[in-house]
Amino acid sequence: MSDPRPTLADILAARRVIAGRADGTPMIPSTLGPRLGIELWLKLEQMQPIGAFKLRGALNAVAALPKDVAGVTCCSTGNHGRGVAQAARARGLRAVICMSALVPQTKIDGIRALGAEVRITGRSQDDALAEARRLVAEEGLAEISPFDDPRVIAGQGTIGLEMLEACPSLATLLVPLSGGGLAAGVALAAKAINPAIRVIGLSMDRGAAMAESLKVGRPVQVIEYPSLADSLGGGIGMDNRLTFPMCRDLLDDVVLVTEPEIYSAMQALFHADRLVAEGACVVGLAALLARRLPDLRGPVGTIITGRNVDMDQFTRVVTGQDIRLGDLLVKGTAHGA
Ligand SMILES: *Cc1c(COP(=O)(O)O)cnc(C)c1O
Repeated sequence: MSDPRPTLADILAARRVIAGRADGTPMIPSTLGPRLGIELWLKLEQMQPIGAFKLRGALNAVAALPKDVAGVTCCSTGNHGRGVAQAARARGLRAVICMSALVPQTKIDGIRALGAEVRITGRSQDDALAEARRLVAEEGLAEISPFDDPRVIAGQGTIGLEMLEACPSLATLLVPLSGGGLAAGVALAAKAINPAIRVIGLSMDRGAAMAESLKVGRPVQVIEYPSLADSLGGGIGMDNRLTFPMCRDLLDDVVLVTEPEIYSAMQALFHADRLVAEGACVVGLAALLARRLPDLRGPVGTIITGRNVDMDQFTRVVTGQDIRLGDLLVKGTAHGA
């Protein structure tokens, strides 16, 4: 079965579904812009009720389920689960969220607080997905993919509409990239409005499944590593139907950043703009600060995708302490050093 790709019309329809519940987040100029010599805009999705943009896609997907559905399930690196839990609760549906042991406790607690059941299985997204598929087969729950679902992509795409409405002159969008639902939706919306806009996907350099898949021309699996950008972990699915071809066709480039670059960008965003954000949000900033984007055209917009960071880890980063990520030690550096 191959789902038709979502279109601009689907994104406009999603906008009506989520109106008043997950739209209208602020867009602000970053004080880092002048320092970098560009006009830089931040779309503040960390201000969403669940602390991340994933509520947009989840609300749009859950709204489309039949009346008599037994409940919903999904696999998640945390924020999609939170979005699905919230969207299910709003419709009075049972939700079972499947995650791997790599998911931080703060995200698990957040999902439970929304009344969803949590299943922790294995050490990868693939293990979590297997559990979700089992619940579909044995308990008749509806699965909502974190990214490879036309309604999820359309929901995330509403961010692109709002960014271009707030700042029609945006020339480049820097979009955090994992499964690609966000990048596919935002690129679809942005290019429908302005075909000349450049959309660049950003991931961490260890375990970036979409980047590796685009490089070899088909979905591939990669080894997952602990990362400051934990929300960008996980594969794209070997049976990927939508986000792989959409990212292939719509993204102008994919750029990877290192853990020390993510660390410095988290510090910079906190100290310069006073924002608490996950490592996954700052990959665009990290690429800018590390000068990994030659020929950059401004104004530039990037999406601060979520705030559901482990506060102990966040405090260590912004105070310049060492961070251990499995076998990798990110040496502490003071902000501005
Ligand atoms: C899910 C997520 C992303 C990446 O979105 P994809 O659609 O999987 O590419 C980026 N940042 C945060 C905070 C997320 O939760």
